Amino acid sequence: MRYSQLFAPTLREVPSEAEIVSHQLMFRAGMMRKVASGIYSYLPLGWRVLDKVSDIVREEMNAAGAQELMFPIVQPAELWQSSGRWAVYGDEMWRVKDRHGRDFCLGPTHEEVATNTVMNDINSYKQLPLMIYQIQNKYRDERRPRFGLMRSREFIMKDCYSFDRDDAGLDVSYGKMYDAYVKIFTRCGLDFRPVRADNGAIGGSSSHEFMVLAENGEAEILYCDGCDYAANIEIAESIPLETVAAEEEKAAEKVLTPDCRTIEDVASFLKMDKKKTMKALFYMADEKPVLIFIRGDRTLNEIKVQNALGANLFYMGADIDLENAGLVRGFIGPCGQKVRVLVDKEIAEGKNFCCGANEEGYHLLNINFGRDFDGEVGFFRMAEAGEKCPVCGGTLRSARGIEVGQVFKLGKKYSVSMGAEYLDENGKAQPFVMGCYGIGVGRTMAASIEQNFDENGIIWPKAIAPFEVVIVPVSEKNERQMRAAEELYASLNENGVEVLLDDRSERAGVKFKDADLIGFPLRITVGDKSLDKGMLEYKIRKTGESGLIPLENGVDEVKALLSRID
Ligand SMILES: [Zn+2]
Repeated sequence: MRYSQLFAPTLREVPSEAEIVSHQLMFRAGMMRKVASGIYSYLPLGWRVLDKVSDIVREEMNAAGAQELMFPIVQPAELWQSSGRWAVYGDEMWRVKDRHGRDFCLGPTHEEVATNTVMNDINSYKQLPLMIYQIQNKYRDERRPRFGLMRSREFIMKDCYSFDRDDAGLDVSYGKMYDAYVKIFTRCGLDFRPVRADNGAIGGSSSHEFMVLAENGEAEILYCDGCDYAANIEIAESIPLETVAAEEEKAAEKVLTPDCRTIEDVASFLKMDKKKTMKALFYMADEKPVLIFIRGDRTLNEIKVQNALGANLFYMGADIDLENAGLVRGFIGPCGQKVRVLVDKEIAEGKNFCCGANEEGYHLLNINFGRDFDGEVGFFRMAEAGEKCPVCGGTLRSARGIEVGQVFKLGKKYSVSMGAEYLDENGKAQPFVMGCYGIGVGRTMAASIEQNFDENGIIWPKAIAPFEVVIVPVSEKNERQMRAAEELYASLNENGVEVLLDDRSERAGVKFKDADLIGFPLRITVGDKSLDKGMLEYKIRKTGESGLIPLENGVDEVKALLSRID
């Protein structure tokens, strides 16, 4: 490709609406343009990157035994009604009507279509297992689209669905996908981690997220320095550093604590460590009140509580809910409680806590689980970096990541609700056991930039760079330079190297700036000084390493350089 013919409008300034690096750089490097809020056009350079990511995904999906197909974007409401999700999906679902007033949506995901397709045509256990996938646009009508490709309303996904006869079969399919994902993100040149994850709205029993590590990542993960335990903070567990002191249970007592409504108030009034206090959190779960008690210095993990309760609707209770439940704000305790009580493990295992007395102006001291109150015990707090790994006892560290893929064990969720069955050896109808596996193709591109950039621009891993090499003649008017550049360009093309020849009539400085901004892994500069010595100048974008290679054998020299670049 010749740069003079390339549609790649680079910009010097940062567009004001672009809040994060990947969005800014994709704009500046002329890779994408906004059409509407959260909806983008991919220009040729951006599309080349997306195409490369897609190709890697496709190769590994095929190698894992999945078959590519294409489902429609527009899906009828009936399919979503049959799974029960039409009513619960919410405003993010992009709903449309046809001319007859019938309801449809632009697919946010394809579990329903995939299940329906398979149940109509797969009847026998002999046809299982089956894995099918597509690479296609998805739609989510985000309230606030932002961060470019990170949270857009139209985005490219690879989604794969597996159908097995039983859990053992699903384990095999899940394992194949997990392994394929490791290969895909490794081939894309990304530093990533598979982490245990929450199942979210999709439901099911087991799930991993694939996180690209990046300082500006949206999600916090905790990982162990001693084993491969890694989990999204939403589900991470830990063993606290302090072991429970062998404290005797003391006699409970009631104390006057006027106006002490917060943990800070109580701890300072009673001159007590916050660790010895109990924090009460009041929520509504499917419209029923629930109280969760955690240690005063901890943070509640809402997702864990919601999952433990199996609640669809879960939010912090309002004043009116509090009143209806007969609770005294600021003085809520677990003793004699009529509202459902959840107790964090740390409280259940500790001794002599201070808590509200359920009476205006009073707290209780030396309150103990089992003796003074009861409740459902679980890990309801946020785990923290520095605590111990729940698997091996190593130290948990914190990192930030961007989710680029997720694998789920769905089990029988959709096959049961939609009546999707096959016949086993005995002619008995059995529900399919399913898995689903997604990769955000655009997100992978954006995450790669978030992980690999500097003040001059993008640094693409070689495998997904729009071109591997850019050749920059210092002056396109200089015949000797252009002859050398053209010769190298032609022979690199012949040898299957993806090369861009910057033949624009621009100053060398402009060409260098664009090359750095777009982030080609290798730049070859053709200038008089080096030509005099029979040499070409090279610069590796990632390391900044530069030097000379002989003009003669230029192709082999460039290939040797490329083989050193990740
Ligand atoms: Zn560990």
